[in-house]
Amino acid sequence: MSAKVLDGRAVAAELKEELRTAIAGAGARLGLAIVRGGGDEAAEVYARRLVSLCDELGVATRVVDLPAGEGTAGAAARVAELNGDPAVMGILVQLPLPGDVDTDAVLAALDPVKDLDGVSPGNAGRLYLGLPGLAPATPLAVMELLRRYEVQLEGRRAAVIGRSNITGKPIALLLLREHATVTICHSRTPDLAAVAREADVLVAAVGRAGLVTGEMVAPGATVVDVGTNFVDGQLTGDVAYDEVAEVAGAVSPVPGGVGPLTNLMLVRNLLEAAKLQAESAPPSG
Ligand code: NAP
Repeated sequence: MSAKVLDGRAVAAELKEELRTAIAGAGARLGLAIVRGGGDEAAEVYARRLVSLCDELGVATRVVDLPAGEGTAGAAARVAELNGDPAVMGILVQLPLPGDVDTDAVLAALDPVKDLDGVSPGNAGRLYLGLPGLAPATPLAVMELLRRYEVQLEGRRAAVIGRSNITGKPIALLLLREHATVTICHSRTPDLAAVAREADVLVAAVGRAGLVTGEMVAPGATVVDVGTNFVDGQLTGDVAYDEVAEVAGAVSPVPGGVGPLTNLMLVRNLLEAAKLQAESAPPSG
């Protein structure tokens, strides 16, 4: 195995200390709300992890469970309440929401300056336009990993496999913002291997274990694995790690790559959100 490991746990440990310092210096106590549909065990585990990270960092949290049967209007009303609550600087809407709720309508109800995971149309539009705003946490985690390992992006060819609104598309836009030449691949891309092999930086955000094989990777390329799949009860990414590590210059593992950074990016977004709200507050007195 020759590739350098892009170690998300090591980066997370550094970043956590930086965030602790920034939070301590923020002045006001930061507060975050998680809105969720309930009933999903994975969502519950995820919320618990985020709450425990926030506890550790001194951020106040509130979990708002949407009552069953209130539909879109009920969910949007909860979001509106949180938009108006000055103790809540950031709101995370955990997906999936219950089947009777129009997810797009709820995300559109988020105040863009409190939209912690950058999923509202306002923030998606700002990312598209290259304006400052809150971007989704997992794409930010990919960029942070690349930045900490000083992977050159400007002028390099990047390929992103996956085009979802929460991973693939924003990752591609963030790479473009850093002046990479970006190709977005998806399930209808013919000869995915040939496109992937042209990339200096290859990002997989699909959800298929072992999709990216050694023969799809250019020698020396940087490979970032966003995928989370469970195979025989084991967490694994989209990249066939051992064979890719023989060819790539650097590769992020799963677990221990992008994952450990994602919640920290939400907390970093919370600091950014608090700043945006302070800037947009009417002058007192
Ligand atoms: P998604 O909404 O299901 O999107 C998957 C994308 O992969 C789609 O664009 C799809 O193409 C494409 N795709 C599917 N099969 C393909 C194939 N054979 N070849 C090329 N492209 C293919 O998934 P997501 O929400 O973006 O999540 C992607 C992965 O990231 C999942 O494993 C998820 O668990 C993981 N994830 C990890 C984190 C983290 O913190 N590490 C956070 C979020 C998500 P079409 O558009 O053509 O269907």
